[in-house]
Amino acid sequence: MKTIQVNASKKYDVCIGKNILGELGTRVRSLLGTHARIAIVTDDTVNALYGAALEQALDGIDCVKFVFPAGEASKTISTYSALLEFLAKNQLTRTDAIVAFGGGVVGDLAGFAAATYLRGIPFIQVPTTLLAAVDSSVGGKTAVDLAAGKNLCGAFWQPELVLCDYTLLDTLPDEIFSDGMAEVIKYGMIRDENLFRRLHQPVRTDPEDVIAACVSIKRDIVQEDERDCGIRALLNFGHTAAHGIELCSDYQIPHGRAVAAGMVIASRGAHKLGLCEGDIADKLCDLLTLHDLPTQCNFSPRQLADAALSDKKRAGGNITLILPEKIGHCIPYKIPVTHLEDFFWAGMEQ
Ligand code: NAD
Ligand code: MG
Repeated sequence: MKTIQVNASKKYDVCIGKNILGELGTRVRSLLGTHARIAIVTDDTVNALYGAALEQALDGIDCVKFVFPAGEASKTISTYSALLEFLAKNQLTRTDAIVAFGGGVVGDLAGFAAATYLRGIPFIQVPTTLLAAVDSSVGGKTAVDLAAGKNLCGAFWQPELVLCDYTLLDTLPDEIFSDGMAEVIKYGMIRDENLFRRLHQPVRTDPEDVIAACVSIKRDIVQEDERDCGIRALLNFGHTAAHGIELCSDYQIPHGRAVAAGMVIASRGAHKLGLCEGDIADKLCDLLTLHDLPTQCNFSPRQLADAALSDKKRAGGNITLILPEKIGHCIPYKIPVTHLEDFFWAGMEQ
């Protein structure tokens, strides 16, 4: 097992290991005391697979459980409000806690409820997707979606503990696992050439070192810029174009796939700007292909730029892109929004 300590506005451990779910009860008692009650928040897929195992791990602790339908469509104000009412009806207090048991949707929704119910109660993340393990469970961003856009309503609220038992990832469908791999590859690109190299070996059979490497990078970035005013933007590598791709596809293209194509566009565009060698994009494409991720998209630079900018202030503004100088090192790079379409043209030319 690996333990990574995060020292943000709250200090907490991220524990990553094999078959460690059973330790949750002991850890909950030592963090929150023996009288704390737990509200488990999970989706119906995770509940069907692992609900009983989680309850067994929390044996002897007074638990209530809130289950909602799996998927992004549930990450709404209405599920959030039903969850708050559930917590109130069950008389959860500030000395009790929420356990978010699932992927990023569960973590974001449960975390936002924890941040706001009674002006904030403790919560614990138990990620069950690769994306949640390497990204959403760490760093304290919580949110729900609005009709006007994704993640528009949320709070910064750090967990008390992240317990990542990666044996839970065994049941993930291949596409969902490879979606998470796009963010893993992103970490290699922005901060860690060794990780990038390591990803040429199989990951799924033994992901502990890879998850730990990603969490360490996210930890370092979050510790420096918890509130996302500066270098936390590095985590957005590939995400400007990805945002456009997701919107153009009406969210039919999953986030990880969009990020994969977005990172290639950013890397080719960076080469055209003279920031890096051209082989960086080729190496990235090879690694993405190895993990069954796409390296291009079918939308035009115009469509992508229009979509990517649709929820930003347009007039006279700049947009900060995250671009590679080499594998393992990216930088923020500001361009006028009026140049974004040209940048995408450059990034999408072979
Ligand atoms: P998700 O939570 O919807 O999970 C994907 C699917 O996998 C769901 O159907 C889920 O039921 C299923 N699933 C979960 N665990 C499983 C398991 N062990 N075995 C089989 N199936 C399982 O999606 P996600 O990709 O984990 O997360 C995406 C969400 O995370 C988005 O809403 C995004 O905005 C958010 N996010 C948040 C942050 C952050 O910093 N807070 C960062 C990145 C992404
Ligand atoms: Mg992302």
